[in-house]
Amino acid sequence: MYGLQMVRGLLVTLKNLRRKPFTVQYPEERLPQHPRFRGEEFVWYEERCTGCASCAKYCPLGIIKIVTSPSGAALPQGEKYKLEVFDIDISRCMFCGLCVEACPYDALFMGSGFEQSRYSRLGLVIPVKQLREAEKRPSTWFRPQLEGTAYNPHQGQPLDWKQVGRESWRWHQREKAGMRLAPDSEGDEKSPQPPFAKGGLDGSSTGGAP
Ligand code: SF4
Ligand code: SF4
Repeated sequence: MYGLQMVRGLLVTLKNLRRKPFTVQYPEERLPQHPRFRGEEFVWYEERCTGCASCAKYCPLGIIKIVTSPSGAALPQGEKYKLEVFDIDISRCMFCGLCVEACPYDALFMGSGFEQSRYSRLGLVIPVKQLREAEKRPSTWFRPQLEGTAYNPHQGQPLDWKQVGRESWRWHQREKAGMRLAPDSEGDEKSPQPPFAKGGLDGSSTGGAP
């Protein structure tokens, strides 16, 4: 009886011997990531950010720290605030994406990377300088305007702030709280699609605007 069970076990081993493994030899090989993959480094566009701190308020773990101060700019139209601190402690982040959902100006996106390992937990706090300088490859998660253009952050080019909003960037430039700049002479408020809506950002065909 015992021998029979051993033979059965060996048969399972033999059956799987020639099967292609599901795992890969990381880091030599990497599995392809979905464009909506919620990466860990976050993509932040300062040009779009008002410092409203909605992202920080909605974060259930309270790991986004924002400090603003009056900049003294655009006083007649309403004060424009200067961002001094915008830190995200990704060592405690659960990548729920609520901060991205809460951002009313499409200024914050999940990132597309997954290799932020550090020797110290302190190294896992992303400071505003790093957010400013990071390559902008936003995940398309919760951003249908990017998904609709078949943008793939793992293959396409980085995007600047004018390319990632639900409204045209000129609309945003005019309406953003505290940044009511002079109306643009070209004016495109009637065409709210992002500038890439007619062509895939990675060169592929598009699925149309959402
Ligand atoms: S993804 Fe979730 S846990 Fe992480 S910073 Fe955003 S709201 Fe907080
Ligand atoms: S919610 Fe958006 S606009 Fe407001 S502070 Fe956060 S990133 Fe900036």
